[in-house]
Amino acid sequence: MSKEGDNTIKCQCHDESGEIVPCYDNVSCNCYWINQKMRSFQEKRNNCSYTEFSSFKPILFTGTHSHFYRHVGFACSELCGCKGNCTNNALLLPNKRLFPIEVFRNNEILGFGVRTLSMIPAGTPVMEFTGEIVGDQLTPGAHWDNGDYAYQISYRDDEQLRNLIKKLNFKPEYEKLIVKLSQKKYYIDPKVQGNVGRMACHSCASNLEWVRVFQKSLSPAHVHLVMVSMVNITAGTPLTIDYGATYTKQRFDSNCMCGSFACLNGPDAATYSKAMTLKLSMCHKTLYDAQIKEWRQVIKPAPVESNNEANNENNLPEIVEITEKS
Ligand SMILES: [Zn+2]
Ligand SMILES: [Zn+2]
Ligand SMILES: [Zn+2]
Repeated sequence: MSKEGDNTIKCQCHDESGEIVPCYDNVSCNCYWINQKMRSFQEKRNNCSYTEFSSFKPILFTGTHSHFYRHVGFACSELCGCKGNCTNNALLLPNKRLFPIEVFRNNEILGFGVRTLSMIPAGTPVMEFTGEIVGDQLTPGAHWDNGDYAYQISYRDDEQLRNLIKKLNFKPEYEKLIVKLSQKKYYIDPKVQGNVGRMACHSCASNLEWVRVFQKSLSPAHVHLVMVSMVNITAGTPLTIDYGATYTKQRFDSNCMCGSFACLNGPDAATYSKAMTLKLSMCHKTLYDAQIKEWRQVIKPAPVESNNEANNENNLPEIVEITEKS
């Protein structure tokens, strides 16, 4: 049904020269129009710009309150005139798999983890979390084994998404169906089919966060879960996600072993358990600065072929800092 007429969301934008098509900020692009409508889900904050879901700008969050419902984007796809090769496609970079990722295991108790082998700036959509879409048969108790890995993608609280669905030109029976489906619990379950995204370990001070990017339509089947870096991540750092207090309680019986500075089972738990996201970000920044300092000491730049010896001191590689807009 999603493939019939107006039930598919796509645009006609194209560029004969084969250049990247400027769908983003183009008010006559259907896909951008929906992407921009989703921006209204975000909390209005003074002096703070909204979170943007484009192909090349960093995804920087405006706040942490109901973050998962509020930060949602819509991307162009291969069905569009631009074929997704445009500025309105937050899935363009993650699909290119730009960052070399290594799977590792520290010890027998902890499972596998993944770490980056290159630097990842804050706000980068690093990779997609893929798997099978499963319905609410996956409730705690029934198949909680899979529940360990699965991530919920549709929620009763997605009221703003349902309001948007009702404003679009979907066929009445399709609209009714996706409104109904969006109220049910659907999960992305990577246990049988999936990618390395599932190997990102839990951390009480994680460096990645999940966001939803829709493509082609607005049912739970059209959701892509994208893992975005919240801080600058240096090479060699494990990629981590905060699975939440409920998960750590059930899974580790409150004996979390993430080893992060803010671990709820660590020596500084009392200090950090009530720490606000801002404070955690400041700690991440301090950590990052220390890592960069160490990196500068360890990694010596290759000698530059230049006759001007005095110039060599200034040849340290440039590191571009991303600053948060808030
Ligand atoms: Zn377009
Ligand atoms: Zn496009
Ligand atoms: Zn499009």
